[in-house]
Amino acid sequence: MSADDLETCSVCLDALSSGTCSFLVSDQIQSVTIRACPHFIHTACAVKLRPRKCPLCRAHFSRLSAPLDQKWLSSMTSEELVRGLRRLDGLRGVARLPAAMFS
Ligand SMILES: [Zn+2]
Ligand SMILES: [Zn+2]
Repeated sequence: MSADDLETCSVCLDALSSGTCSFLVSDQIQSVTIRACPHFIHTACAVKLRPRKCPLCRAHFSRLSAPLDQKWLSSMTSEELVRGLRRLDGLRGVARLPAAMFS
């Protein structure tokens, strides 16, 4: 995955900062949200995806995250985004789940 993947919507190829973005959610176990993949897509683009699969990595998803705050997203560099993703995954307990869920 290149840094560009984090900054560009893979559906419309426009900058993620040009619209509201979401990440893809594969499942929710109790209060833990499981991300389908590490990618961000415009919320408006992601809701049109049929079937519900990430256009970048083809991960199946069941719903979208709440729209992410634009200021938050645009204020981050790619490097910070990647770090933030790792932190988010850790916080949400993804590391504790079987690796098979993400293969
Ligand atoms: Zn888009
Ligand atoms: Zn993906």
